Amino acid sequence: EYIGQELLKEAGLPAVTLDGHLTRLKGNVEIPEEGASVLRHGGEGVGLYRTEMLFMNRKDMPEEEEQYAIYAAMQQAIAPHPLTIRTLDAGGDKLLDGMSLTDEQNPALGVRAIRLALSMPEEFKKQLRAILRVSASGKVRIMFPMISGLDELRTARILLEEAKLELDSAGISYDRSLPVGVMIEVPSAVLVADLLAREADFFSVGTNDLVQYSLAIDRSNEHLSEMFQPLHPAILRSLKRVVDAAHQESIEAGICGEMAGDPLYLPVLLGLGFDELSMSAASIPRVKQVLRRYTKARAYEVAQACFQFGTAAEVDQYLKEVTNNRA
Ligand code: PEP
Ligand code: MG
Repeated sequence: EYIGQELLKEAGLPAVTLDGHLTRLKGNVEIPEEGASVLRHGGEGVGLYRTEMLFMNRKDMPEEEEQYAIYAAMQQAIAPHPLTIRTLDAGGDKLLDGMSLTDEQNPALGVRAIRLALSMPEEFKKQLRAILRVSASGKVRIMFPMISGLDELRTARILLEEAKLELDSAGISYDRSLPVGVMIEVPSAVLVADLLAREADFFSVGTNDLVQYSLAIDRSNEHLSEMFQPLHPAILRSLKRVVDAAHQESIEAGICGEMAGDPLYLPVLLGLGFDELSMSAASIPRVKQVLRRYTKARAYEVAQACFQFGTAAEVDQYLKEVTNNRA
């Protein structure tokens, strides 16, 4: 995507609304080389580092050292900005070569993401130790994908504590207060967001999967793409519920799904009160431009107004009207 010089220049300015409200815009990355691009497009760090790439196209699992080296390279690429590393989110639409799960009837509902990680605790702890070690040299946060309820969060946290103890006994340093986040991308997580918020340090909504699972629409099925609707009233209600639950417990809520990168949705997400939006680097300048021309007060009104509509099409039409078709 071509981005004009004017837009790129403005991308370097703060992500602040006309009435002085700061929102963090960050980038989604998969390889360290993308870090520089996030900064060049005005991102203030990485809100989603998808680590799957390191595990793909190979038969074995990467060792702790190999993982550490690449996570450290990623961290250095965006320093001094913060890096949010998501633990392995394999399975479903992200199959690994070595995975013998091809016989699953419903891969999207199968042994994937945090479920897969918890089924191989020693491999998972290699990744946790590698991430912890990187946290010694910069601002790093960790987040777990596809958490469906408290059990998984607690089990993952126990393994994280074990990984910390292992590093302690080896005399290796790490950030002892490494923030632990939960991706909200399963409908049950939305419904128990109040419970999760008590035991998480932050939330990040994965709208790609949340829309898929909430509306029962395969995210990669071309025949259903019209029905993949981030503005569906069920999704808007879910988003509101997640932010409110987070703020009730004084933790932050962000979005790292594709929805965050569409300027048309910005007023709603800003108005609902999201603290952070993470998107592909190329999307940052335009989202920031819209943000810098909006007031938080107006965004709040727009977000409220969206709840009166009964269908995604109506919300979409309303947003296009209030933004003068800017998107
Ligand atoms: C999401 O589900 O919205 C998300 C950010 O994660 P991924 O697209 O990698 O599943
Ligand atoms: Mg996801």
